[in-house]
Amino acid sequence: MADLFSDERFCEFLSKIDAQDAAKFKLSQVEDEHYDIYEFYGGVYAFLSKWESNEEIAAFFLVVGDDKAMLIDTGMGGGDIPQMIFRLIEDKELVVVYTHEHFDHIAFAGYFENEYMINVEESIERVNAGFTSDELSISRVRTDSPYPLEEGRATSAANIKPIEDGTVFELGNRTVKAIHTPGHSPASTCYYDEKYGLLFVGDIFASSTIYIHFDDDFFLKSDLDTFVQSLEKLMPYVHKSKYIYFTHPSVADKADKLVLLKDAVEEVRAGKVAYDIVHDELSQSDVKCYKTHGLNILVSLNND
Ligand SMILES: [Zn+2]
Repeated sequence: MADLFSDERFCEFLSKIDAQDAAKFKLSQVEDEHYDIYEFYGGVYAFLSKWESNEEIAAFFLVVGDDKAMLIDTGMGGGDIPQMIFRLIEDKELVVVYTHEHFDHIAFAGYFENEYMINVEESIERVNAGFTSDELSISRVRTDSPYPLEEGRATSAANIKPIEDGTVFELGNRTVKAIHTPGHSPASTCYYDEKYGLLFVGDIFASSTIYIHFDDDFFLKSDLDTFVQSLEKLMPYVHKSKYIYFTHPSVADKADKLVLLKDAVEEVRAGKVAYDIVHDELSQSDVKCYKTHGLNILVSLNND
């Protein structure tokens, strides 16, 4: 247990949740050279890479049902994720779903059989094509792979199939529903686990900075109005949910954080919040930075 509680990423979440739920959290018995594997509330595994600092983490999740398991995103590269996942689920059938098309969520696309993303053609085409090393030359990305790749390629080509908004996956004694929630990116999708009241929100929420500022061929386009509409659409699920699981960087929080986010972005959209113009290294562009409700929110200069 000493190891468990010395991990600041995990401690941060434990500090936010109910004591009876916190008592259920543990490091998995299955160990991996590259990832810390935690068992979270609701029979969920969270994978946090050992080499990244707290600010750089791109967590991803595994939901295990009686018959099938669902992997939600495949991280930003490094290690051998397929091997790690199949050690955990053994002979259960696996489905892989993606919260969106960004490079730090899809590095192992193409190494699994049943992979799905919401039906946004440009996003699926983007991921199925795979990324070259040049495209991923921005910092923080692991372009080494345990599997053979053609020279100059950083990720495999994939065969991700489209799913419709509202698709329900039956995992055996639990279901997970896909809810299309664009705004951060065109394909952004939340996954709702009704049995345990969990929402997997991808990059719609982050405990560091919330990105609604992308506007290029690599990240595709964010949109503030669409982001607000998606949060409105999500509210019935938020009200039924206990926790949200997200990617960057502290992994999880109480679900009502999305109500706070909705209030914040509505005020931003209404022009009620002052902003600074800052340079964003990731998109290599100047963007508006809003600080409100304890959140940092980046919006494109073009999004008025
Ligand atoms: Zn993203």
